[in-house]
Amino acid sequence: MKSRKIGIMGGTFNPIHYAHLLLAENAREQFGLDRIIFIPSGQSYMKEDEDIPSGEFRYQMVKMAIQGNPYFTCSRVEIDRPGRTYTVDTLHQLQRMYPGDELFFIMGADSLLSMESWYQFEDIFQMAAILVAVRDDTDERALSDAAERMKTRYLADIRMVMTGRMDISSTMIREKIKTGKSVRYLLPEDCVEYICLKNLYSQQQEERV
Ligand code: NAP
Repeated sequence: MKSRKIGIMGGTFNPIHYAHLLLAENAREQFGLDRIIFIPSGQSYMKEDEDIPSGEFRYQMVKMAIQGNPYFTCSRVEIDRPGRTYTVDTLHQLQRMYPGDELFFIMGADSLLSMESWYQFEDIFQMAAILVAVRDDTDERALSDAAERMKTRYLADIRMVMTGRMDISSTMIREKIKTGKSVRYLLPEDCVEYICLKNLYSQQQEERV
Protein backbone atom coordinates (compact mmCIF):
# COMPACT_ATOMS: atom_id res chain seq x y z
CA MET A 1 0.00 0.00 0.00
CA LYS A 2 1.25 3.49 -0.83
CA SER A 3 2.44 5.31 2.27
CA ARG A 4 0.38 8.29 3.34
CA LYS A 5 1.62 11.67 4.48
CA ILE A 6 0.19 12.45 7.89
CA GLY A 7 0.38 15.95 9.34
CA ILE A 8 0.35 16.31 13.11
CA MET A 9 -0.84 19.57 14.57
CA GLY A 10 0.02 19.34 18.25
CA GLY A 11 -0.98 22.07 20.63
CA THR A 12 -2.19 23.11 24.02
CA PHE A 13 -5.04 24.73 22.09
CA ASN A 14 -5.94 26.96 25.01
CA PRO A 15 -8.04 27.79 23.06
CA ILE A 16 -7.71 26.75 19.41
CA HIS A 17 -7.99 29.69 16.98
CA TYR A 18 -7.89 30.54 13.27
CA ALA A 19 -4.07 30.80 13.07
CA HIS A 20 -3.80 27.12 14.14
CA LEU A 21 -6.39 26.13 11.53
CA LEU A 22 -4.86 28.19 8.76
CA LEU A 23 -1.36 26.93 9.53
CA ALA A 24 -2.57 23.31 9.31
CA GLU A 25 -4.48 23.95 6.08
CA ASN A 26 -1.55 25.74 4.44
CA ALA A 27 0.82 22.94 5.46
CA ARG A 28 -1.57 20.34 4.10
CA GLU A 29 -1.84 22.06 0.76
CA GLN A 30 1.83 22.95 0.36
CA PHE A 31 3.17 19.50 1.26
CA GLY A 32 0.33 17.39 -0.19
CA LEU A 33 -0.56 15.89 3.20
CA ASP A 34 -3.31 13.27 3.12
CA ARG A 35 -4.70 14.22 6.50
CA ILE A 36 -3.98 16.33 9.54
CA ILE A 37 -4.42 15.02 13.06
CA PHE A 38 -4.96 17.71 15.68
CA ILE A 39 -3.63 16.53 19.03
CA PRO A 40 -4.56 18.56 22.11
CA SER A 41 -1.84 18.10 24.72
CA GLY A 42 -2.39 16.35 28.01
CA GLN A 43 -0.29 17.56 30.95
CA SER A 44 2.48 19.80 29.68
CA TYR A 45 5.42 19.77 32.09
CA MET A 46 6.46 23.14 30.70
CA LYS A 47 3.14 24.75 31.61
CA GLU A 48 2.51 23.19 35.02
CA ASP A 49 2.16 26.57 36.73
CA GLU A 50 -0.52 27.74 34.28
CA ASP A 51 -4.24 27.33 34.88
CA ILE A 52 -5.15 25.28 31.82
CA PRO A 53 -8.65 23.87 31.32
CA SER A 54 -8.79 20.08 31.29
CA GLY A 55 -7.93 18.19 28.12
CA GLU A 56 -11.56 17.32 27.64
CA PHE A 57 -12.60 21.01 27.29
CA ARG A 58 -9.77 21.70 24.83
CA TYR A 59 -10.48 18.51 22.88
CA GLN A 60 -14.16 19.47 22.51
CA MET A 61 -13.20 22.91 21.18
CA VAL A 62 -10.78 21.40 18.65
CA LYS A 63 -13.48 19.01 17.48
CA MET A 64 -15.87 21.92 16.91
CA ALA A 65 -13.21 24.00 15.17
CA ILE A 66 -12.25 21.36 12.59
CA GLN A 67 -15.82 20.35 11.75
CA GLY A 68 -16.47 20.38 8.02
CA ASN A 69 -12.87 19.87 6.89
CA PRO A 70 -12.65 16.28 5.60
CA TYR A 71 -8.83 16.30 5.93
CA PHE A 72 -8.84 17.22 9.62
CA THR A 73 -9.32 14.85 12.55
CA CYS A 74 -8.74 15.17 16.26
CA SER A 75 -7.04 12.62 18.48
CA ARG A 76 -7.36 11.87 22.19
CA VAL A 77 -3.97 10.12 22.41
CA GLU A 78 -2.37 12.78 24.59
CA ILE A 79 -5.32 13.70 26.77
CA ASP A 80 -5.99 10.01 27.51
CA ARG A 81 -2.36 9.09 28.18
CA PRO A 82 -1.57 9.28 31.90
CA GLY A 83 1.33 11.35 33.14
CA ARG A 84 3.19 14.19 31.49
CA THR A 85 2.84 14.74 27.77
CA TYR A 86 5.94 14.27 25.67
CA THR A 87 5.80 14.60 21.89
CA VAL A 88 8.29 11.76 21.47
CA ASP A 89 5.80 9.34 23.13
CA THR A 90 3.03 10.55 20.85
CA LEU A 91 5.16 9.97 17.77
CA HIS A 92 6.01 6.43 18.90
CA GLN A 93 2.28 5.81 19.36
CA LEU A 94 1.45 7.25 15.92
CA GLN A 95 4.17 5.16 14.26
CA ARG A 96 2.53 2.05 15.72
CA MET A 97 -0.92 3.22 14.59
CA TYR A 98 0.18 4.17 11.07
CA PRO A 99 3.07 1.86 10.14
CA GLY A 100 4.82 2.85 6.93
CA ASP A 101 3.24 6.30 6.78
CA GLU A 102 5.30 9.50 6.79
CA LEU A 103 4.82 11.84 9.75
CA PHE A 104 5.06 15.63 9.55
CA PHE A 105 4.92 17.65 12.77
CA ILE A 106 3.54 21.17 12.18
CA MET A 107 4.59 24.01 14.46
CA GLY A 108 5.18 27.73 14.83
CA ALA A 109 8.63 29.32 15.01
CA ASP A 110 8.75 29.60 18.81
CA SER A 111 8.28 25.84 19.13
CA LEU A 112 11.18 25.16 16.76
CA LEU A 113 13.39 27.64 18.62
CA SER A 114 12.76 25.75 21.88
CA MET A 115 12.89 22.23 20.48
CA GLU A 116 16.40 21.44 21.66
CA SER A 117 15.02 21.58 25.22
CA TRP A 118 12.25 19.05 24.51
CA TYR A 119 12.46 15.57 25.95
CA GLN A 120 14.34 13.25 23.54
CA PHE A 121 14.15 15.83 20.77
CA GLU A 122 16.73 14.03 18.65
CA ASP A 123 14.37 11.05 18.37
CA ILE A 124 11.61 13.41 17.27
CA PHE A 125 13.80 14.54 14.36
CA GLN A 126 14.28 10.90 13.35
CA MET A 127 10.55 10.14 13.40
CA ALA A 128 9.00 13.19 11.74
CA ALA A 129 9.76 16.00 9.36
CA ILE A 130 9.15 19.40 10.94
CA LEU A 131 6.98 21.90 9.09
CA VAL A 132 7.49 25.33 10.59
CA ALA A 133 5.75 28.66 10.11
CA VAL A 134 6.97 32.12 10.96
CA ARG A 135 4.90 34.06 13.51
CA ASP A 136 4.09 37.75 13.46
CA ASP A 137 7.01 38.48 15.81
CA THR A 138 9.52 35.91 14.51
CA ASP A 139 13.15 36.90 14.10
CA GLU A 140 13.59 35.19 10.72
CA ARG A 141 17.38 35.26 10.95
CA ALA A 142 17.31 33.45 14.30
CA LEU A 143 14.83 30.95 12.88
CA SER A 144 16.87 30.12 9.80
CA ASP A 145 20.09 29.87 11.89
CA ALA A 146 18.34 27.44 14.28
CA ALA A 147 16.92 25.39 11.41
CA GLU A 148 20.34 25.15 9.72
CA ARG A 149 22.01 24.12 12.99
CA MET A 150 19.42 21.40 13.64
CA LYS A 151 19.70 20.10 10.08
CA THR A 152 23.48 19.84 10.39
CA ARG A 153 23.73 18.55 13.97
CA TYR A 154 20.77 16.19 14.12
CA LEU A 155 20.01 15.58 10.43
CA ALA A 156 16.60 17.13 11.07
CA ASP A 157 14.25 17.50 8.12
CA ILE A 158 12.92 21.04 8.61
CA ARG A 159 10.79 22.75 5.99
CA MET A 160 9.11 26.14 5.96
CA VAL A 161 5.35 26.52 5.60
CA MET A 162 4.48 29.46 3.39
CA THR A 163 1.86 31.23 5.39
CA GLY A 164 1.24 34.90 6.03
CA ARG A 165 2.01 36.21 9.48
CA MET A 166 -1.05 35.75 11.65
CA ASP A 167 -1.36 38.05 14.63
CA ILE A 168 -3.57 35.75 16.73
CA SER A 169 -2.56 33.89 19.86
CA SER A 170 -4.35 31.93 22.55
CA THR A 171 -2.92 34.33 25.14
CA MET A 172 -4.48 37.28 23.34
CA ILE A 173 -7.85 35.52 23.24
CA ARG A 174 -7.76 34.63 26.94
CA GLU A 175 -6.84 38.23 27.82
CA LYS A 176 -9.69 39.61 25.75
CA ILE A 177 -12.20 37.27 27.37
CA LYS A 178 -10.92 38.16 30.83
CA THR A 179 -11.40 41.86 30.11
CA GLY A 180 -14.79 41.44 28.44
CA LYS A 181 -13.58 42.25 24.90
CA SER A 182 -14.85 40.64 21.71
CA VAL A 183 -13.05 37.58 20.36
CA ARG A 184 -15.28 37.27 17.32
CA TYR A 185 -13.38 36.36 14.11
CA LEU A 186 -10.34 35.15 16.06
CA LEU A 187 -11.72 31.63 16.53
CA PRO A 188 -14.77 29.71 15.31
CA GLU A 189 -18.10 30.93 16.68
CA ASP A 190 -18.95 27.47 18.09
CA CYS A 191 -15.80 27.63 20.22
CA VAL A 192 -16.74 31.10 21.47
CA GLU A 193 -20.17 29.77 22.50
CA TYR A 194 -18.59 26.77 24.20
CA ILE A 195 -16.19 29.04 26.12
CA CYS A 196 -19.17 31.12 27.35
CA LEU A 197 -21.18 28.02 28.21
CA LYS A 198 -18.37 26.49 30.26
CA ASN A 199 -17.28 29.84 31.66
CA LEU A 200 -13.68 29.34 30.54
CA TYR A 201 -11.05 32.08 30.84
CA SER A 202 -13.32 34.58 32.62
CA GLN A 203 -12.53 35.93 36.10
CA GLN A 204 -14.86 33.35 37.63
CA GLN A 205 -13.25 30.39 35.90
CA GLU A 206 -12.77 28.53 39.17
CA GLU A 207 -16.58 28.12 39.17
CA ARG A 208 -16.57 26.17 35.92
CA VAL A 209 -17.75 22.57 36.01
P1 NAP B 1 -0.17 26.09 21.20
O1 NAP B 1 0.24 27.28 21.95
O2 NAP B 1 -1.58 25.68 21.26
O3 NAP B 1 0.27 26.28 19.68
C1 NAP B 1 0.22 25.19 18.79
C2 NAP B 1 1.15 25.49 17.62
O4 NAP B 1 0.58 26.52 16.82
C3 NAP B 1 2.51 25.98 18.11
O5 NAP B 1 3.54 25.32 17.41
C4 NAP B 1 2.46 27.46 17.82
O6 NAP B 1 3.70 28.00 17.48
C5 NAP B 1 1.56 27.52 16.60
N1 NAP B 1 0.91 28.83 16.50
C6 NAP B 1 0.02 29.38 17.35
N2 NAP B 1 -0.36 30.60 16.94
C7 NAP B 1 0.35 30.85 15.81
C8 NAP B 1 0.44 31.96 14.93
N3 NAP B 1 -0.29 33.08 15.11
N4 NAP B 1 1.26 31.86 13.87
C9 NAP B 1 2.02 30.73 13.66
N5 NAP B 1 1.98 29.65 14.48
C10 NAP B 1 1.16 29.71 15.53
O7 NAP B 1 0.69 24.81 21.67
P2 NAP B 1 2.12 24.71 22.41
O8 NAP B 1 1.91 24.77 23.87
O9 NAP B 1 3.05 25.67 21.77
O10 NAP B 1 2.56 23.22 22.03
C11 NAP B 1 2.86 22.86 20.68
C12 NAP B 1 3.22 21.40 20.62
O11 NAP B 1 4.53 21.21 21.13
C13 NAP B 1 2.32 20.48 21.45
O12 NAP B 1 2.08 19.29 20.74
C14 NAP B 1 3.15 20.20 22.68
O13 NAP B 1 2.83 18.97 23.33
C15 NAP B 1 4.53 20.14 22.05
N6 NAP B 1 5.61 20.33 23.03
C16 NAP B 1 6.31 19.22 23.38
C17 NAP B 1 7.32 19.31 24.32
C18 NAP B 1 8.08 18.07 24.69
O14 NAP B 1 7.77 17.01 24.18
N7 NAP B 1 9.04 18.13 25.53
C19 NAP B 1 7.63 20.54 24.91
C20 NAP B 1 6.88 21.67 24.53
C21 NAP B 1 5.86 21.55 23.57
P3 NAP B 1 4.61 28.80 18.53
O15 NAP B 1 5.41 27.76 19.23
O16 NAP B 1 5.42 29.68 17.65
O17 NAP B 1 3.71 29.53 19.47
